[in-house]
Amino acid sequence: MSTSQIASPGSRKVHDSFVPELVYFEPAALDYPKGQHIMEWVKDKGIPYRMTSSHNRITNLPGDTEQQKYKIAKRTLVVGLRKTLKFDTSKPSAEYAIPIATGCMGHCHYCYLQTTLGSKPYIRVYVNTDDIMNAAKAYIDERVPEITRFEAACTSDPVGLEPITGSLRELIEFMAEQEYGRLRFVTKFHYVDSLLDAHHNGHTRIRFSLNNKYVIQQFEPATSRFEQRIEAAAKVARAGYPLGFIIAPIIWHEGWEDGYAELFEALHQALPRDVSSGLTFELIQHRFTKTAKGVIEKRYPRTKLEMDIEKRKYKWGRWGQGKYVYPSEQAEALRMFISERIFDHFPDSTIDYFT
Ligand code: SF4
Repeated sequence: MSTSQIASPGSRKVHDSFVPELVYFEPAALDYPKGQHIMEWVKDKGIPYRMTSSHNRITNLPGDTEQQKYKIAKRTLVVGLRKTLKFDTSKPSAEYAIPIATGCMGHCHYCYLQTTLGSKPYIRVYVNTDDIMNAAKAYIDERVPEITRFEAACTSDPVGLEPITGSLRELIEFMAEQEYGRLRFVTKFHYVDSLLDAHHNGHTRIRFSLNNKYVIQQFEPATSRFEQRIEAAAKVARAGYPLGFIIAPIIWHEGWEDGYAELFEALHQALPRDVSSGLTFELIQHRFTKTAKGVIEKRYPRTKLEMDIEKRKYKWGRWGQGKYVYPSEQAEALRMFISERIFDHFPDSTIDYFT
């Protein structure tokens, strides 16, 4: 068992905050207080570290097989500078992706980063947060008086890395001062304590990616557990942040109705009574591409994730290859059941979309 995981009663693993097994530093990262701080932490923890000329060229990762290399990469942290300060767009939920990290220590079987990050699954964090915030400011100024929204979780799960970097707190406090700027991110981790007393001014929406217990246990290793995420969401609500949930991937499995009913009941029990108004839900059914199916079967050969294309409906993609989703009747049953549970418990909330 790794040092970052402790056993819970019933031998389920509970993910405690992430401690990498190997860390790389770009030399220039040590010119920044954040880089120095991370270096001190690495030395203090006795984690092996190496220097690298570029965070984009980590080629000598240990491991004999592909699978081993992948596992080790997911526990390797690279500390560098974000040089590209041109932000990607992130429609429809935000105007731009704000880059504070790339990669994630989670092992969600279905994660799209497996295909999008290709041969670089290691975790990169950027220490030049001031440059990133200055670039965000320029994007905001360009669009005044329109509000500009930034999504911080397009290529990573930044809450998972917050205990190491503190970057989200900086972004939250920066955005609090931006009349025309808003921040949002989504997470499967519960490390929100350091964000609770941040000055947010209601300008940051924190969303939790949630699922029923079966899906979390089967398909989301090395992320925070059901109860941890729900407790963290309640803390975030009490801290006055705008709050939302992404229910994804919605999976059809034996007992799914009971599982999703339990999820919304537990949320209802945990959240403050006055939270319903302003609460948002995004519903995403499980989907996969042929490429992703191949990668997942290689990386998680024993996965119980059902990816039988015979049982799915093909949905053409606007760009590139299409995806396999549930047949319309099944998708509609999932959508109806979950929407009803949401409005039963949170009548003033909004469902942004089901896809
Ligand atoms: S937590 Fe999110 S980013 Fe990390 S592996 Fe899971 S799905 Fe991917």
